Amino acid sequence: MPGFEVFGEEEKQQILEVLDTGILFRYEFGPQRQGVYKVKEFEEAFAKYADSSFGQAVTSGTAALKVALTALGVGAGDEVITQSFTFVATWEAILDVGAIPVFTEVDETLNMDPADLERKITDKTKAIIPVHMLGAQARIEEIMVIADKHGIPVIEDAAQAAGARLNGKHLGSFGTCGTFSFDSVKTMTTGEGGMVITDNENLWRNMSEYHDHGHDHAVNPGGRGGEGRRFVGFNYRMMELQGAMGLAQLAKLDQMIISQKANKAILKEAASAIPGVSFRTILDEKGDSATFFAFILESKERAAAVNQVLREYGVGAINFGENTWHFYPQWEHLTAGSTLADNGWPFAENGKRRVIYDPEALPQSADIMSRTLVYQVPIKMGDEQKEKMVSALHNAAAS
Ligand SMILES: *Cc1c(COP(=O)(O)O)cnc(C)c1O
Repeated sequence: MPGFEVFGEEEKQQILEVLDTGILFRYEFGPQRQGVYKVKEFEEAFAKYADSSFGQAVTSGTAALKVALTALGVGAGDEVITQSFTFVATWEAILDVGAIPVFTEVDETLNMDPADLERKITDKTKAIIPVHMLGAQARIEEIMVIADKHGIPVIEDAAQAAGARLNGKHLGSFGTCGTFSFDSVKTMTTGEGGMVITDNENLWRNMSEYHDHGHDHAVNPGGRGGEGRRFVGFNYRMMELQGAMGLAQLAKLDQMIISQKANKAILKEAASAIPGVSFRTILDEKGDSATFFAFILESKERAAAVNQVLREYGVGAINFGENTWHFYPQWEHLTAGSTLADNGWPFAENGKRRVIYDPEALPQSADIMSRTLVYQVPIKMGDEQKEKMVSALHNAAAS
C-alpha cells in the first residue's frame, strides 16, 4: 500500500478521456459527454469485481458508511455495534446519523469477536458494522449467523480490504452491504472516494437517491431523469475524475496484492526468528490482501522491547495500542464527549449524556493490541529497504 506507488500512463489516459469531454459531473450533460460516464462504469466494474450486483460510488469511505446507515433506516436513538479496533470514521458515521456506537472486543483476528457481539446485542441494535482491518478478514461468516438469527443488517466496513476475500468471495459481499474507501493511503486510491456494494436493489436505489440530494432516479436507476423525490437527501457524489482514477487503479489491484504478498512473506519469514512471536490470525491466507503485516509478542513489555530495537534500526513498527486514531481507549474526544454542538449533541440530549464510554471497558482488546506490532507492506520494496527491514527483524530476534 498505497496505490499511488503504481500511478502511471493508465491513470493519465483515463483522466484525459474525461478532460476531453469537459464534463466533470457524473450526471446529465447528455450529448456533450460523448458517452463517457466514468463513475457509472467504475461502479459497475467494482461491484462485479467484488462479487456484488450493485455499486454506489460516493465521496469517501466515511460517506459510504453514512449513506449505508441512512439507507438502512438507522437514526437517532438506535444502537449500532462496531469493534474497538477501527478508524474513527466508523463511529463518526454512526454518530452522524444520530445513533449510538457500541464497541465489541477484538480477538486475534484483530477484528470483531463474535462472542462479544452476541453479548452486546440489545433490542435497540439496528445494525452491525464489523471491520476488515488491515486488509484481512473479520469472522464474517460467524457474524452473519449471529446477525441473521437476530434479524439485524450487517454493513461490512471493508475500507482497508479492497481485493481481499474469504474462501474466494470478496469481503464486503457477505453482509447486507459493504463499504470501501479509496482515500490517499488505501490500497487502491482515487485520492478521495468511496463505494457501497450490495445485492439488494431497493437498498441501492435508496442510496443512489439519498447521495444525490434525494433526486428521483426512478426512471433511470442509478442516474437522473425524473423530477420527483421521495425523501430528503444530501450530496455525497463522486466526480468523473475520481471514477476515471478508480477504473485505472482497479485494473491494477490484483497485481498490487501479488506484490504485497511477496513482500509480506519476506517480512514474516524474518520475524519468525523472534523468540515467542506469533502472528495475527488470518482466516484465509489466500484471500489476505497483505496490505499489512501484524505480529504478536507474549507481553506488552516484550513488544515494546522488540519495537525499541526495530526503532534503533530505523524501522519502528506501529503499535496500534498506542495509536490515537484506531483504538478505543485512545479516543479521548469520544470518552470526553467533545463536540462543537452547544447542546452537546450527539453525546448529550436535553442536557443529559446519552452514553458514557469507559476507556477500561475492553480489556481483551487492550491486551491484544498492546502486544501487537504492525508494518505497512509496500507494493514496491527495493533491495535496500528489504535488507534494512530484514536485518532489523533479525537483530530484534537476537536481542
Ligand atoms: C479509511 C477508513 C475509513 C474512511 O475512509 P475515508 O475515505 O478516509 O473517509 C473508514 N473505515 C476504515 C476502517 C478506514 O480505514
